[in-house]
Amino acid sequence: LIAKIGYRRLHKQFSELFKKIENAHEKGRSAIQAYAKMTPVSAHLSATAQFKFEEFSKKLKIKKFATSLVDRFIKHIKTAADLDLNKIRIIALAREWQVDENDLLVLAMHATREGLLRLSWELVCPHCRSTRETSERLEDIRKAGHCDVCEVDFSSQDPNAVEINFRVQPSVRVVTEAVFCAAEAAKKDHIKVQLPLKPGESWKGSVHLAPGLYRLRWVGEKNQYVFQLDPKGLKEGTIEWDGSSNFVGHEESYNQVTFEIANSFQQTRLFVLEQMWWAKDLLTPGKVFSLQEFRDLFTEETLGIGTVLDVGEQAILFTDIVGSTEFYETTGDSFAFSAVSKHFDELFKVIREHKGAVIKTVGDAVMGAFNDPSDALKASFAMQNIFVKNQKDLSGIRIRVSAHTGPVLAVRLNSPIDYFGATVNYAAKLQALCGAHEIAFSEKLYETYKALFKDEAVNAEMKSIQISTRKKTIQGYVFNMKA
Ligand SMILES: [Zn+2]
Repeated sequence: LIAKIGYRRLHKQFSELFKKIENAHEKGRSAIQAYAKMTPVSAHLSATAQFKFEEFSKKLKIKKFATSLVDRFIKHIKTAADLDLNKIRIIALAREWQVDENDLLVLAMHATREGLLRLSWELVCPHCRSTRETSERLEDIRKAGHCDVCEVDFSSQDPNAVEINFRVQPSVRVVTEAVFCAAEAAKKDHIKVQLPLKPGESWKGSVHLAPGLYRLRWVGEKNQYVFQLDPKGLKEGTIEWDGSSNFVGHEESYNQVTFEIANSFQQTRLFVLEQMWWAKDLLTPGKVFSLQEFRDLFTEETLGIGTVLDVGEQAILFTDIVGSTEFYETTGDSFAFSAVSKHFDELFKVIREHKGAVIKTVGDAVMGAFNDPSDALKASFAMQNIFVKNQKDLSGIRIRVSAHTGPVLAVRLNSPIDYFGATVNYAAKLQALCGAHEIAFSEKLYETYKALFKDEAVNAEMKSIQISTRKKTIQGYVFNMKA
């Protein structure tokens, strides 16, 4: 009888748990969070801890954050279950609370600086998403990792291999560490196809899939094939893949897809097609590196020498002063210095206001980066609007602006966290297309965000320009902002 009652109770608890997990899954939260909601809060806050929270709350409110957001955040840190605080999922929380993701991220950064939270860099297995190594400093991230479970070696350079984690400072609240695999959903309904294939064996077919991000992989092999399924996508296609190459980070979008999968390995391998439900909640280095607040608050953070991180797509913007040599000569060094400094201040302000970051300055040129390419576009117009309209205040300094978007690598080069690669190079080369009061956008940036230009470019005259250098043709759309 006791066993029966015990079993019934257990059964009831489990069915409640599964119901919660299912509900959470529908709302886009993870199973872990749903489980965490059921576990009792282990922290009983002492009077000292209570006082600390009040102090933090005051300090954060002074920093122009919305009172309601600070209150909600502090309450979460105080009362959430330990499992929810091992890894504070900023993006998932922002969605759940219906607040701006950037606002919550910046709040978490300030809370870290105030001593409430702790920031760490995690090297994550790109297959199962479990943390293989944690570093307190960006500089200490190891270049290579290994996952015993998935039997794969990986590098910090692999897309999504590094994640940022916010935790509570133990001096504020002691949270029991939990070791779990972040991708291990209680129900594996994210797996759509799982098929053992012998060497040389193949599978052809199609699967009914809901819109979303998917990946193909082989258990025990590093390569992956990531693609997007979007009913609005124009392309209908066949994905042919034998696992010998990697397609990650620049995913193709299909409206409908059929598969032709072949095992090119020496052994029988388990082929897996799965939905990447966790991908939208990743707090990746690219998301923080392109935020000015991060660069201002964490000035000591630097990439290790030789470390390369894939920061995904970033929009890169360059500015430069037109006729600077002449300007220095006619105005004199001392006047030129103060005028150029003022010009930098104006540009930095615009970049910050458009959720971007100043990556570096090179002479009179500024290089900025934006997570959302549309912000780069808006910032470009905002900059030229200021410089065209306030010529007198800005000592007659005239600038050119160029912008492009694409995959970028983060390295330690001319700044502690510099951006590097073909996208950066092309954004800089676009400068050759434009002169004073002009903006040159790459074809890619223009074509993708065409709709936005209608509002922004009312006073701009647009033309398509192409120039050929020895090796490459540069083509872009140039906007002249002369009023
Ligand atoms: Zn793994």
